Amino acid sequence: MNTGVIYARCTATKKDFGIALQQEQGGDWCVMRAYPLGPSGKKNGGDEDVDYRGGLKLSSDYNGCPHCQSGREVIRCGSCGKFGCYDGSGRWTCPHCGHVSSQIGSGIKDFKGSGGQ
Ligand SMILES: [Zn+2]
Ligand SMILES: [Zn+2]
Repeated sequence: MNTGVIYARCTATKKDFGIALQQEQGGDWCVMRAYPLGPSGKKNGGDEDVDYRGGLKLSSDYNGCPHCQSGREVIRCGSCGKFGCYDGSGRWTCPHCGHVSSQIGSGIKDFKGSGGQ
């Protein structure tokens, strides 16, 4: 079974976290579990050097952002391409670049992440 890792940042607290992925039969990637990163952040988790093909969707038991209570979803910034947590409010400010999205697309496809543990 194929697994993967992507990195996201909490929209509310600006803290980074990792997300474990699992590939489904059809080739899409399922967001399984979010976990806080150690003090050295991404250096523990490897570089974002893996191109994932296929869609990204939330598992029904995804535990949500580890840093805030409201980030139950994952969203990718249309400007910088990085991920953040999303509270479903219909408006999102990217915690990486400050880009404001008022139209939230549901489909994430072909994204970058890390294969490292
Ligand atoms: Zn959050
Ligand atoms: Zn951005």
